[in-house]
Amino acid sequence: MPSTISLIKKLKADYPQFSFRKSPSFSWSQSDQTIYYINTDDNCSLLLHELSHALLGHASYDRDIQLIALEREAWDYTIKLALKYNITISDDMVQSNLDTYRDWLHKRSTCPKCLANGLQTAKNTFKCLACSHIWRVNDAKTCALRRYSNNT
Ligand SMILES: [Zn+2]
Ligand SMILES: [Zn+2]
Repeated sequence: MPSTISLIKKLKADYPQFSFRKSPSFSWSQSDQTIYYINTDDNCSLLLHELSHALLGHASYDRDIQLIALEREAWDYTIKLALKYNITISDDMVQSNLDTYRDWLHKRSTCPKCLANGLQTAKNTFKCLACSHIWRVNDAKTCALRRYSNNT
């Protein structure tokens, strides 16, 4: 398996339309056309994942449920890209990654008053189906930022 650093060199050559920048977290910025990456040696799959978001033209979404669809689509594409760069991505890794989104979405949609499930009424607003409580959640940021903040 190639290192992240050697993979970055190949990706820069293969995808000159995107910028690659070191960052404390993995993310893709549609507005900057930039892939941000953590410069360590064992993150090839996450790097290809962000590249997949870039190649698929993923930008913003209005509902949390759309995020799961985008993530699934990006991982499907990541698996295809990984073949090209001789990187192995296990199904377990993809599933556990998607699970972190499902957990996160579940937390966001749980009513803080009665713990029933809420309905998303706008990008950052939920309404409880049981007690009618309305609450706001933080902006969703990027997938990778969330993934890392969840793990710490
Ligand atoms: Zn409630
Ligand atoms: Zn993602």
